[in-house]
Amino acid sequence: MQIADRLKKIPPYLFVELRKKINKAKAEGIDVISLAIGDPVEPTPDSIIDELCKKARDPENHRYPTDEEKGMLAFRQEIARWYNTRYGVSLDPGMEILGLIGSKEGCHHFVLGCINPGDTVLMTDPGYPAYRASILMGGGVPYNVPILAENRYFPVFEDIPTDVAKKARGIFLNYPNNPTGACATRGFFDRLVEFARQFDIAVCYDNPYGEILFDGQERLSFLMASGAKDVGVELNSLSKLFNMTGWRIGMAVGNVDIISAMSKVKENTDSGIFNPIQYAGLHALKYEAKNIDHMLKIYGRRREMVLETLRRIGIVFDAPKGTFYLWVPVPRGMKSLEFTNLLFDKAAIVVAAGTAYGQYGEGYIRIALTVSDARLREALERIERALS
Ligand SMILES: *Cc1c(COP(=O)(O)O)cnc(C)c1O
Repeated sequence: MQIADRLKKIPPYLFVELRKKINKAKAEGIDVISLAIGDPVEPTPDSIIDELCKKARDPENHRYPTDEEKGMLAFRQEIARWYNTRYGVSLDPGMEILGLIGSKEGCHHFVLGCINPGDTVLMTDPGYPAYRASILMGGGVPYNVPILAENRYFPVFEDIPTDVAKKARGIFLNYPNNPTGACATRGFFDRLVEFARQFDIAVCYDNPYGEILFDGQERLSFLMASGAKDVGVELNSLSKLFNMTGWRIGMAVGNVDIISAMSKVKENTDSGIFNPIQYAGLHALKYEAKNIDHMLKIYGRRREMVLETLRRIGIVFDAPKGTFYLWVPVPRGMKSLEFTNLLFDKAAIVVAAGTAYGQYGEGYIRIALTVSDARLREALERIERALS
């Protein structure tokens, strides 16, 4: 049986490898705590589940959701209202919004909609591994742009070779950033718009952590930048904000041509999102913003717990203020993978090695704040014991 070459270029998905390692230890009876994956343990708020159940009872909603090709109009209208109230960004629900089965789907459709085989697509190193997979599956050529601590985890556009920039037709960016936690600034958006204009590069700005911010960090959408809609789209998602990772619902918003191209890909791929899930998503945006505040208190508390333990064992750093991850420098003289293995072998704690996100992730591990407080406390006690 032939397997397509494009798949052979995709490295194994990080979490698949991790899961294998965890399962093996668990089978041996070891109580493994995973701080590797960012997937909230708290349930989806009740009212959202109720809305799903109610709408699922209506046979009207059992049919193909294709009446409106970009997703239900009511859902898109609610997304427009959300962007207006949260970011002061106005969007036309008819032309500038596309419902998605999560932001990850959007990454894929962006490439299929905007990139020709052989085109260069820029992404960051470290960066979210799904961008590379999407680029490769769409026949594009990924080019890694380093984002380094010394540049506050922003790409330096002037350092991208001109011949690369000229060949590039797309760029993936993501702030608040997974894995580093770094947050965007308005100044950065302006530089991004200028760079995209100069080289005619479509921007795919992935913003699923847009609300997960600490210490008064400003909430930002790329579309707040002047000219942003001329050059790109923003992907967003209900996954991380409403504890809905398994529901698969999100959106792309922004540039009319890109939205229309992505919509054409989507129509010809999956025929849309189950209507009751769109209703539930609408409900989440309309009534459950309070869940975000609730979760921020929880993540903020856990963040302090981790930072305090790290300080006690001598790991002191200036933690960026976004996402529910901490990007933690490993002890001096150690490699990411070495430290990751040490935590697993000595404490049965799983963390993500920084190098899983690219070569410039060397020297870091990523800790997710999405386990319960009790498990996190236990994990931190074990880490402290293992390292002292
Ligand atoms: C979690 C995550 C996603 C996936 O979001 P879904 O909407 O669940 O597909 C996309 N991008 C980044 C950077 C993420 O961390």
